[in-house]
Amino acid sequence: MKISVVGTGYVGLVTGVTLSEIGHQVICLDVDTLKIKMLRNGQSPIYEPGLEDLLRKNINDGNIWFTSSSTQAFADSEVIFIAVGTPANHDGTANLFYLEQAVIEIAKNIKKRQIIVTKSTVPVGTNQYIKKLIEKYTTVEFDIVSNPEFLREGSAIYDMFHGDRIVIGSELDEAAAIIGQLYKPLKIPIYKTDIRSAEMIKYASNAFLATKISFINEIANLCDKVGANVEAVSYGMGLDQRIGNQFLQAGIGYGGSCFPKDTKALVQLAGNVKHEFELLKAVIDVNNKQQMLLVEKVKKRITSLLHKNIAVLGLSFKPNTDDMREAASLVIIEELVKQGATVIAYDPVAIDEAKKYLPTEVVYAKSIETAIIDADVVLILTEWEEIKSFNLHQYKALMKKAVIFDGRNCYSLPEAERAGVEYYSVGRPLVM
Ligand code: NAD
Repeated sequence: MKISVVGTGYVGLVTGVTLSEIGHQVICLDVDTLKIKMLRNGQSPIYEPGLEDLLRKNINDGNIWFTSSSTQAFADSEVIFIAVGTPANHDGTANLFYLEQAVIEIAKNIKKRQIIVTKSTVPVGTNQYIKKLIEKYTTVEFDIVSNPEFLREGSAIYDMFHGDRIVIGSELDEAAAIIGQLYKPLKIPIYKTDIRSAEMIKYASNAFLATKISFINEIANLCDKVGANVEAVSYGMGLDQRIGNQFLQAGIGYGGSCFPKDTKALVQLAGNVKHEFELLKAVIDVNNKQQMLLVEKVKKRITSLLHKNIAVLGLSFKPNTDDMREAASLVIIEELVKQGATVIAYDPVAIDEAKKYLPTEVVYAKSIETAIIDADVVLILTEWEEIKSFNLHQYKALMKKAVIFDGRNCYSLPEAERAGVEYYSVGRPLVM
């Protein structure tokens, strides 16, 4: 099929490349001309395992093109995917500005019947709004489909080919059938439903996963106080198939471009229909507190942060991505700097991206070793493989005194004991 994808961010680019790989002719549109230039040269503007290889392969095979011209983007299309950002407004509601701009461009440029598919995460009712907006600008016939995306950054390509389900919300069976057909080579179960339910499935799924994370973090904080070990607790809980073992790892809370904004948007959405979503508000509250808990633990240990050298290992909101949006490291480092600490930060991939967000006082190291030399304290904020596999004995060798605060429970307690480090983790007993 001839497909256009609007927006070449994490979702749009991965979707475009995947659809080109399974035999479609794809043209991707972005307003960011720099991104388009890079993409035409086979360079991915984002770090995502496996993406660049697949991108280059499909450019060379003539299956995927990139443009910043709306006329060109929609000249031949049969199906248009919208994958622009829907960030949070200050009040937590979803900002639909980019979506509206994209929809108007589509409406002004389509020449023949289209199926317009919304991949962006949008509040319930938005697809209906999109439909009305398009009708304002064109008389060309079109169908609307809601097709929320569930990929995880860091394993987005894998997820595209091995997703648990593809959700297709539509008013018309024919439109849903065409989109189902388009995805058929992926051999992923397809669930067809109405548009509003499809929109809600995305928010409800993210809110549920965020709830699991805040729940286990609360259990971890309780474990700290009663002398239990959250790792053993979550393992024991996860053996129950009704609970499952995923999203039960205690840490410094969730971040990223989706959970924080989608939980807030769902609270707002509920508020609009006079529904107080108390549970989700608590989930958000617990998460905000969890991010600062590590700093409080550090302060308790070293009293004052003033002029202390603090090495921070891991900056991205999770491993295998350079995405810094709403990363826990942002609030934690800001607080450390505010309290007068000298922060030396290391991340295997996200440093360039982090520089756009972090205070200018932060010093960046080229390796874990250079970050921790002479550090008073080490904070582990992202569980990159390189950080998890870093030998604990090295801390002892390179630091004045090896004091480690691990926000991601990267090391086992016996390992920490054997290395003779002072090791604080989340919801597990202290190792001295
Ligand atoms: P992103 O910010 O990485 O990318 C958005 C892209 O859209 C940018 O390249 C931007 O330049 C482009 N854009 C903005 N306005 C445009 C316009 N009018 N025309 C063409 N291009 C335009 O965003 P993302 O992380 O890919 O997220 C996109 C949507 O998918 C969001 O609604 C998000 O909630 C949802 N989502 C994201 C993820 C994720 O892990 N990132 C997962 C599932 C769903």
